[in-house]
Amino acid sequence: MSLIVQKFGGTSVANTERLQNVADIVTKTYEKGNDVVVVVSAQGDTTDEFIEKAYEVNPKPSKREMDMLLCAGEQISASLLAMAIEKLGYPVISLLGWQAGFFTSTANGSARIESVDPNRIKRELDQKRIVIVTGFQGINRYEDMTTLGRGGSDTSAVAIAAVMHADLCQIYTDVEGVFTADPRKIEDAKKLNVISYDEMLELATLGAQVLNNRSVEMAKKYGVELEVLSSLTRKPGTIVKEANKMEEMLISGIAKDNDVARVSIIGVPDRPGLAFKIFTKLAAKEINIDIILQSIGRDNTKDISFTIPEYQLEDTMEILKCYVETIGAANAVYDSNVSKVSVVGAGMETHPGVAAQMFEALFDANINIQMISTSEIKISVLISRQDADQAVTAIHKKFFSNK
Ligand code: ADP
Ligand code: ASP
Ligand code: MG
Repeated sequence: MSLIVQKFGGTSVANTERLQNVADIVTKTYEKGNDVVVVVSAQGDTTDEFIEKAYEVNPKPSKREMDMLLCAGEQISASLLAMAIEKLGYPVISLLGWQAGFFTSTANGSARIESVDPNRIKRELDQKRIVIVTGFQGINRYEDMTTLGRGGSDTSAVAIAAVMHADLCQIYTDVEGVFTADPRKIEDAKKLNVISYDEMLELATLGAQVLNNRSVEMAKKYGVELEVLSSLTRKPGTIVKEANKMEEMLISGIAKDNDVARVSIIGVPDRPGLAFKIFTKLAAKEINIDIILQSIGRDNTKDISFTIPEYQLEDTMEILKCYVETIGAANAVYDSNVSKVSVVGAGMETHPGVAAQMFEALFDANINIQMISTSEIKISVLISRQDADQAVTAIHKKFFSNK
């Protein structure tokens, strides 16, 4: 007998028919003699619709009340799935995050899981029940419900699998696995049979939404092997694990991130300590800086450009306005019409020429590169947002056509 954690995303539980399909997958797993813990997301676009509704009522809702609202989405799908399973005649119980032992930090809207107390889930499994847990949520030390940030149900599933030492953690979604690029955008994207944690973490962080990046981080930390697969087609999916060198691909995928903006401080006086001051101020407000570029300078001044998530643009510009005045820089400007496109692959560590190939693909498509950043296993470029889809297509073709 094994313990299997199965997570179903929004599309997989979107309506009655889909819920019945999930009930079928879950009960078949249970029938084989396994203990089954199921984690569910909110149905379809429920979370987006709730957010829209909230802003209609109050354009600046408090994060606490927002979490009260959003937690309801997962409660609906968990209870409905339990009913679908009851109808098939199996013992089942649904639990909210706090009932399932999820304790989180206090940060409403982006809480981190601090611990999972598995006792309640264990008791229910001992009663031979299928246990359904609401993803994406927990409770903090003030006994307030919290959410984990968008896409957080993946992390809920991995956390349960880690704490309970599950034998298998399956992430069911609306595509057949992890592909070399978003299969909804790139027609000839190829499904990967296996991908390493490190590569998956980069892809997820750089915009491939198929897995939440925190879930991959946690899976790597606790050695939880994941399978990403479709709830609709029932074919083997992609295994995410600690891959050995033999399995590492030169390039595993291309990702695009539109949640990015470029900010430049023009005419910064050329003396030590100014970059340190500005980045300290931004860090204090938890602004995530990504690519940084400093110009060589002229007339004893230099320009500093960097990228941030677009949603933090307003806060960033507010800080920069004060900063520009204090240090006597010329001004601060931004461009939010940009995207980050990245190539990820563990093999590039040992194979030179990947950057050249990527830049050639962009050159052939007549796309201008604004900024570049690299790590051992990824290369990212910042380009104009209107060029982003074309860039992904061109780069994907360069690396994956005729293979
Ligand atoms: P769920 O609701 O099941 O959590 P998501 O919408 O969060 O599903 O993630 C699945 C989506 O991720 C797919 O529909 C696909 O469009 C997108 N996606 C982006 N990049 C990739 C990739 N490299 N491989 C697979 N899917 C990807
Ligand atoms: N329902 C949440 C969201 O839409 C969590 C999830 O689906 O993982 O972000
Ligand atoms: Mg998701």
